[in-house]
Amino acid sequence: MDRFDKLRATTLELCRIPSPSAAGDGENRVMDDLERRLSGALSRKPGCCSLFRYPLPRDPYGRSHVAALWRCPSGTKDTVILMGHVDVVEAEGYGPLTPWAYDPEELTRRMASADLPEEARRDLRSGRFLFGRGTMDMKAGIALHLDLFEEALENPERFGVNLLFCPVVDEENDSAGMRGAIPFLTDLARNERLRYLACLNAEPCDLGSEGPVRPLYVGTIGKIMPLALLQGREAHVGEVALGINAALLASSLVEALDGDPQTCERTPDGVFSPAICMGLEIRRRAYSVTVPARAAVYFNLLTVTRTPAEVLDLFRDRASSALATALEKRQRDLTACGLLPQDAPTPRGQVLEAGDLLEQARRKGFDPEGVLARLDPHLDAREKSLRILEAALDAVGVQGPLAVLGFLPPYYPQRLNQNRTEGEKHLREVAQDLVGHAQRTHGETLEIREVFGGITDLSFLGFQGRKEDLEALARNLPGWGTLYDLDRERLLELDVPILNVGTAGKDAHKWTERLDTEYSFRVTPDLLRFVVDRLAEQGRP
Ligand SMILES: [Zn+2]
Repeated sequence: MDRFDKLRATTLELCRIPSPSAAGDGENRVMDDLERRLSGALSRKPGCCSLFRYPLPRDPYGRSHVAALWRCPSGTKDTVILMGHVDVVEAEGYGPLTPWAYDPEELTRRMASADLPEEARRDLRSGRFLFGRGTMDMKAGIALHLDLFEEALENPERFGVNLLFCPVVDEENDSAGMRGAIPFLTDLARNERLRYLACLNAEPCDLGSEGPVRPLYVGTIGKIMPLALLQGREAHVGEVALGINAALLASSLVEALDGDPQTCERTPDGVFSPAICMGLEIRRRAYSVTVPARAAVYFNLLTVTRTPAEVLDLFRDRASSALATALEKRQRDLTACGLLPQDAPTPRGQVLEAGDLLEQARRKGFDPEGVLARLDPHLDAREKSLRILEAALDAVGVQGPLAVLGFLPPYYPQRLNQNRTEGEKHLREVAQDLVGHAQRTHGETLEIREVFGGITDLSFLGFQGRKEDLEALARNLPGWGTLYDLDRERLLELDVPILNVGTAGKDAHKWTERLDTEYSFRVTPDLLRFVVDRLAEQGRP
């Protein structure tokens, strides 16, 4: 079987195991499958490779990871990490084709009679594309890494660096997999005396591109979710002047921060989205004729340079002025209605940090773990985090109007190639050489891009900031350490430059998800080998 057929067959087999993130045993079944393949290959070539299976700490789904380390006969410390995710997004939108969403061969056949968008129809006719959930995102990438790893086993003279095959779960969810892999990576480096030269991912590279240019990402964007819990004052709607509507406070904050140009960061390649409001809720259990006293609002914020501490500063600034604006408006309106005397004082809003509130509550005997234990385990992580904060606010009993500021999970640190460390400089040179190689050998135009805007696990290969920057996050994320965790010490210990040498495809997460098999199985394998070889040349003894 040639490489194209082998990669195609492996991709099909991996796709046939449905593995939506954090749902059922699919992710573990893919890991079982990979373990079976690796132990088969290992039994034929014992001695040079170690196989691992390690559990994710405190994972409610009982998931575990397979990993395999191949040691180069030269005895070098230099190691390349091959990372990818085995989970997929749910197969939604397939309509009558749902039964075949995870069977790419059959699905691709049946697509002929589906009502496809024009471009998808053209791609189908070309014969290059394989449709199906997980084809491009990213079972094909896993197949590519596995194939490279197996080549090292079969032909120990082929590569001049160690290879660590390191697939993870939960990428499409909260990256619990990658976060759980951090201690594994640091401990392995220590025990086996490894030096990680680079972490390669194989996410589809077309995301965010247009035209024939394929982006080659040397960095990945950060993401953080600022949260505000707003407390007004309860009152019967007939006595509105006694109350302060939390909905007004919340909407004032949305007005101030959603789309705020100062929240939007840029690189030489382009501009990223500003803060976007992702949730705006009145927090009460049942309807009543009462002015809402509590509301929550949270945002998605993409970061290129900002740290959690800086985000919190900016958020505090916006929240203080939003509270003041809302309370002045309330005053004006109620005075105009004749419900407040002209000289009534405007209430002043208070801004608190979640960390301080949680600390005050703890001193009164509040136990966040107890709150968490009483919640339905299947509740969304964001809802759980918010419930902890609400319970703390109840415990402290502080009066509104106020805003408690914190963060919701998940958090992704940005990871850039700043051309600062030796490793970053080397990997950037390799990426530049790869651009030339792809053009010469395959007629493919690759272009280095600084930041992948789509949020990936590559965020967790280190932290480009200070310990205190992470402190602001940990202190202010309700449920930190139980509901959501990130091993800060070990994250700071890791410092691995990243590069995405990806497959090609279109419409990730849609029902028309499809993989360009020609590029992915004929070009990408060579690009991947080129990068590993160049890294080996640049490795030091
Ligand atoms: Zn992906």
